[in-house]
Order: sequence, then C-alpha cells, then structure tokens
Amino acid sequence: MIKIMLDPGHYGSYNRGIAEGYYESRQMLVLGNLLKTELTKKGFTPLLTRSGEEDIALAMRGKMAGAAEAEIFLSLHSNAPGKDEEGQYDPKVRGLYIYYSVRQPQNKALAEKLGQAAAMAMGTPFRGARVWESPKYPGQDYMTVLQSAVAAGVPVALLIEHGFHTNMEDCAALLQADILARIAAAEADVFSDTYLPAETSAPFRKGKINTPSGVAVRTLPDEDSPRSDGGAGMGIPNGTEIAVYQLIMGTDGTEWAKVFWHSAWGYCKAQYIEFAQTAVKVQATLSDQEKAEALVTRLKAEGIQAEIVS
Ligand SMILES: [Zn+2]
Repeated sequence: MIKIMLDPGHYGSYNRGIAEGYYESRQMLVLGNLLKTELTKKGFTPLLTRSGEEDIALAMRGKMAGAAEAEIFLSLHSNAPGKDEEGQYDPKVRGLYIYYSVRQPQNKALAEKLGQAAAMAMGTPFRGARVWESPKYPGQDYMTVLQSAVAAGVPVALLIEHGFHTNMEDCAALLQADILARIAAAEADVFSDTYLPAETSAPFRKGKINTPSGVAVRTLPDEDSPRSDGGAGMGIPNGTEIAVYQLIMGTDGTEWAKVFWHSAWGYCKAQYIEFAQTAVKVQATLSDQEKAEALVTRLKAEGIQAEIVS
C-alpha cells in the first residue's frame, strides 16, 4: 500500500512556544501520531521518522523516507518567529505555510490543497504553498529535510508550518487535542482524495510480485507503452506486496493487472503476481440472495472465482 513517511520536526523538548507548555517537537509528535492513525484508517501505510524524543539528523529523515520507498514525505512543524514587514519580531503574525520541493513543481497543487485544508481545520489563515530555494545552491531546496527526501527518490516531499508558535492564538490551538485531531483528519482526507479515488478505494485483490527481475509498469495494458512519468523504468521489485484494482484481458490474451505504483495508475502482467486471494466465498442469507448473486457475477467478471455459501 502507499507509504507515507511522517516526520515530526525536531526532537526532545525543542522550540518553546508563547503559550504555556508548548514545545514544537512534542506537539508535532502528537500530531504525527494522530495523522498516523487517520492514514491507517484510510488504507495508507504511514511511518514515523521518530516515535519518541530521539534526535535524528535532518538529512537522515529524508533518507529514511527513501529507504522505506515512501511515496510521500511530510515534515510536521510550527513556525517562528513571526516577523513584520521590517523583519522585526511581531507576535501578531500567524497563519500556515506549506513548502514543496523546488525540484518538484508538479506537487504545488497538492501542497495548496493540503495547506488549505490544514489551515481551515486549525482555524488560522492559509498563507500559501511555496518553495524555498537555497541561495547557495540554486535549483536545490534550502530545507535539508526536503532536499534529502528528494535526493533519496521520494516523489512527493512536503513540509507544513502549522501556524506560528510565537503567536498566542496559533500556539494555543496546537495545544488542544481536538484541534490537532481535526488537523490530522483534514490532512488524511486530502491524501485519500488525491491518492485513492472513491471508486477504487478498496482493492479487490492483494498479491505479491513473484519474478526475480521484478515487473515493468505500463501506462496502458499494452506491451508497447512503458510509463513515461515518475514510474518510468521503475519496475516493481520482486517480493513487493501490491493491491490489484482490476484485471484486464489484453488483445493478445495477456492478462494485465491495474496497480497504483509511484503515485500513478499503471498496468503490469498479471502472470507475475502471486495472488493472496484466489477465491471468494460470498455469504448470503435468503433475503439478500439477489445481491449476493450480483456480487458473484461481478467478481467472476473481474476474474475472481466466487461462489455463494449459505
Ligand atoms: Zn520546526
């Protein structure tokens, strides 16, 4: 399933806020855990760069996402200090920024959606989706966590500054459990809307790639259309567990499996997938016999052996 590496910013008791008891490192860990729960419910596989107060180097956080083959890296932060137009500290400055990688302009729309949803859930103004380019290394991200995730091959690297902990309203909001839960739910919703279209949110079969060289992913169920997007050349490695959303019979009789791989739909040869579930028994009572029959017919049409048991 789609892996999302969540990165609660900093470590230990770091970055005290203006509201009593606030530490960015601690509250972002609370948020990270809430988000993990929400994403799990949706069918994602969320991971955390840290689950306690351990100090993990910035460059390591992005590397961890790459090593885990995460589709998404999301770093969780709150911002400081709020500055006015003259660059002077101003506790009135509040609002949420989201950063995407300067090397991934295609992720701007997702960043905007995510930032808007999180800001609304938090009750703070949305200040925009931006990139922060390194002045020293043009074309690279200034933020090491984003730079390291992109360098490690993660297709979507994002960092959210959940308001300013130097602003009383933003900081107080981030200390409230119900507001944090609302932010987590809103962020998880954006990911499921983006990555799991409603009609295919439930994969009907799970399988494992079973061929030593791995299997190529195509744009269409057709031999001559290797995927040209982010998935190009990235075959699915042997042993990978994968959800199959549909089986399609090709013109030459090849069976193609529709899969979601590296942020996009694609097709691979079904013969290289070892299915975990080869037959389905549909439990039916007399009253919903008709529904059960319809379900069996549909499953059979999709290539699954199905039968009704009473
Ligand atoms: Zn931070």
